[in-house]
Amino acid sequence: MFIIKAMGIFDWINQSAKNLKDVESKISKENKDVYEVYQRNVVLEREIAQRTEELRLANQTLLTLEQVWDMMNSSRPLSSVLETIVSSLYGEFGYIYSFIAQKQYDETGICYSLKTYLENDFSDKLIKIANSSIYDFKLYPPENGIIENTVKKKEIGYYINLKDFVKENIKNVNEEEADIILENNNIKTLIVFPITVQDIFSGFLSVFSPRKELKDDELSFLNLFARQIELAITIANLFETVKKQAVTDHLTSLFNRRFFEDALHREATRSLRNKQPFCLIGLDLDHLKRINDTYGHTMGDKAITAIAEVINKNARSIDIASRYGGEEFFIILPGIDAKGALIAAERLRSSIEAAKVDGLPEGITASLGVASFMEQTTNIDELFEICDKAMYSSKQNGRNRVTLADIDNMTSWQDIAIDAFVDILSQHRIPFNKNTAHDLLQKLRIRQQDASGLSTQETLYSISDTISKSYFPLLPEGSTKNKVCLASLIAKRLNLAKSEIDKLKIALLLYDIGNTLIPRSILKKPSSLTQKEKEEIKKHPILGTKEVLKSVNNMQDIIPIIEQHHENWDGSGYPGNKKGKEIPVTSQIILIVDSYFAMTSYRPYRKVYNVDEAVAEIKSNINVKYSPELVEAFGYAIEEYKKI
Ligand code: GH3
Ligand code: MG
Repeated sequence: MFIIKAMGIFDWINQSAKNLKDVESKISKENKDVYEVYQRNVVLEREIAQRTEELRLANQTLLTLEQVWDMMNSSRPLSSVLETIVSSLYGEFGYIYSFIAQKQYDETGICYSLKTYLENDFSDKLIKIANSSIYDFKLYPPENGIIENTVKKKEIGYYINLKDFVKENIKNVNEEEADIILENNNIKTLIVFPITVQDIFSGFLSVFSPRKELKDDELSFLNLFARQIELAITIANLFETVKKQAVTDHLTSLFNRRFFEDALHREATRSLRNKQPFCLIGLDLDHLKRINDTYGHTMGDKAITAIAEVINKNARSIDIASRYGGEEFFIILPGIDAKGALIAAERLRSSIEAAKVDGLPEGITASLGVASFMEQTTNIDELFEICDKAMYSSKQNGRNRVTLADIDNMTSWQDIAIDAFVDILSQHRIPFNKNTAHDLLQKLRIRQQDASGLSTQETLYSISDTISKSYFPLLPEGSTKNKVCLASLIAKRLNLAKSEIDKLKIALLLYDIGNTLIPRSILKKPSSLTQKEKEEIKKHPILGTKEVLKSVNNMQDIIPIIEQHHENWDGSGYPGNKKGKEIPVTSQIILIVDSYFAMTSYRPYRKVYNVDEAVAEIKSNINVKYSPELVEAFGYAIEEYKKI
């Protein structure tokens, strides 16, 4: 009151009004500041949201690409890789629909079929209107329409007018139907990316977007996926080629030996499961050596190709025809019994006899053997053996003929080898870890009882390897198998009789068994051996035969081979200083094979030879360690061996 009185009422009002104005302007200024801050916050928040979304998308892209790469690396089928791309675009990246189409030609001309697609509401509507299943759904683009231009020019296509697109590309769709396809699905644009992989794939990836505008980063992101598709198709195609090359023989395009051996296992398992027989035909070209020598190697190759063509022409689609080695072929005939296989083999024989080899003045013939799984044996090694033996019989009886395998005359080298190992291990003829011996005996006994068709040979090889590893841990995997394989090729080249080859195989399983009786300190010595130690090692052929194998059944033919496997052609070997033809050929084969594998394997005290160096070293020992014929046969065999 005192102030009002002193200032006068008007002054007071004026003053108050002024104060009020001041306050008001102050408030208004502050308001403006707050508003600006608010505005700025809104912009920032929007920006943060946008950046977060970009980051999420980038993250998602990386994750999806990582998944796609993993799939490509694990050689998963192409379809799974493409499906992952298409469904990620739909599910995780918010597109309404996506598919990959591949260019084709049908009776009406160019069309595009859906290779990878999604099944959802959109596709349901599409196929309902097009009156087709999604598998058969096709787009028929006009010549200069968006699809053709996109694919041809390799440019990205962008479509806003979807109705026109639908009418343009889907056959017989009218205005009304186009509306039905597009209604209620929020699709605003369609983006089409060309996909071209040389000669293999030409098509496009299409993405239906819920957004009208298409930003640069979105475009590059989608482009990235289109390129992944191209990469996946390229990789899948390369993988297919490599896979095909790995199982086929390059000269004849028939399956190779590796594939044949796997197929034989598979067929035996299937046959036992379905209780259905299958047959094996073995075929060897007659007198190829003479053809080579008379008309040249190229003509020999032509004769081999001609045989492969006849086999291919005569084979049913389910038959598995393979080139086993040089001029030896095997054909698996699923679901066929011996009677049927004999007819098929005879048809092959006569077709080969009738075949003309371009440029070859004489005809060609082949000798064939037939064996039947289930009817004659349920063991694949035995099946192979009896078939091979039947083929040999055809040769011995004048060639150009078919022989049915004879199971009764079968003396299996595997049986003899199994018995020998059982004897050695159960009678403790070698110092050997008890538990391991027990395990090996189990393996062998299962083999003796079991006729499951699983490989007896594999069991024998692994037992021989296990025993060798007990004194020589550096032994490479698959050692015995490789030695038997190379030795058999040499033996065949030297025209050894089958019975000799069988003995050789048994000897290869056992030739170093005497090493088990030599002090480990010498065998495992990392540095060079003293003269005395060398003399100790040289005892192994005699230790093997006299201490280990002497009392084992059926070893009488094997013992001389093993005893002489270190004798040299010039008489400088051990233990008997035998020379030249005194030494069994089979012992010489073991010597050369053993040297080859020793040279090409790791040893701590010397370098590893590559194949060429090892072959050269062997050649330098002609007439010293080996006979010239043996080295020649080795030269041929090693070439064959390298292909296996
Ligand atoms: P047989 O009637 O007893 O089978 O006599 P053959 O001459 O056909 O058999 P042998 O086993 O004595 O010789 C086979 C020859 O085939 C020796 C080898 O050089 C040759 N050979 C192996 N593979 C090929 C190849 O791919 N092309 C050619 N041209 N010759 C090959
Ligand atoms: Mg031949």
